Amino acid sequence: MLQSDARLSETIKKEAAELGFDACGIAYAAPLQAEQELFFQWIRKGHHGKMGYMANHPDKRMDPRKLLPGAKSVIVVALNYFPEEKQPSENRLKVSKYAYGKDYHFIIKEKLRKLIRLLARHDPQSQSREFTDSAPLLERSWAQRAGLGWTGKNSCLILPRKGSFFFMGEILTTASLKADEPFFKEQCGNCTRCMEACPTGAIIAPGQIDARLCTSYLTIELKDSIPPEFKNKTHGWFFGCDICQDVCPFNRFARPHREESLKPLPFITQWKDKDWKTLDKPTFNREIKKNHSPIARVKFEKLRENIAFQDT
Ligand code: SF4
Ligand code: SF4
Repeated sequence: MLQSDARLSETIKKEAAELGFDACGIAYAAPLQAEQELFFQWIRKGHHGKMGYMANHPDKRMDPRKLLPGAKSVIVVALNYFPEEKQPSENRLKVSKYAYGKDYHFIIKEKLRKLIRLLARHDPQSQSREFTDSAPLLERSWAQRAGLGWTGKNSCLILPRKGSFFFMGEILTTASLKADEPFFKEQCGNCTRCMEACPTGAIIAPGQIDARLCTSYLTIELKDSIPPEFKNKTHGWFFGCDICQDVCPFNRFARPHREESLKPLPFITQWKDKDWKTLDKPTFNREIKKNHSPIARVKFEKLRENIAFQDT
């Protein structure tokens, strides 16, 4: 049965909330003109480092209708990952909070597919595709257009009164939906805490990250060893880095997530520095890889190097 655009949008949002998403908004699928220049400048300056894939498919990145012909709407969802349980407080060796639980890609995609099935029931002619980090889509721009929040000076999406510890997911659909008001008001104001706190100087201008200087890039995306000039600058973060989010005043609103599948894997809450430092391959395979931890995105050898780098 076809519902009006507005009613179908409400149905989708209600279902998104029932699936556990913390926010859901809708934008009209249209070219991202305002973002083009900044993005291409970032690429031209080489700030994406060795993430060559960022420079691929610029046409699709700037116009989602090239990812799904006939797309009319972009549904954007956010899922809280702020953990209740943390790594032992005495640990110097730290993992970014997003990587505490099982790989979020599977979790979000499964929920998005349920939303797509709902869309298909209400609009059988519609076609939809789901994404999470998996396509050339400027996620934060779409989240802003869908009214979820704004991009902070640390370049994270910040949800008002909720903070920035959220995963994002998107559905592109040919279904006709009612779009939300875009979120126009950037609320960082005069705050520069994240820029001051970043130990590697990676936030080169408000909202602009030189990935080549960012610990997250150096410890996850960069396949080579961390260059020696970063000695004493990564502050124990050997898989990702949360510093610019931890200092953000909007994260005082962060509340623990309720998603069972994102619960920290046992080694996160149990392993002390000495366990990380003596990690061997069989333990990596058994505890990290087999449990679908996002940490398995890096090879064992790279992880060992990242850990050893923190002592230099
Ligand atoms: S993640 Fe860490 S290194 Fe990267 S910009 Fe934020 S504070 Fe700087
Ligand atoms: S720390 Fe301050 S400047 Fe940085 S993102 Fe948060 S509010 Fe914005």
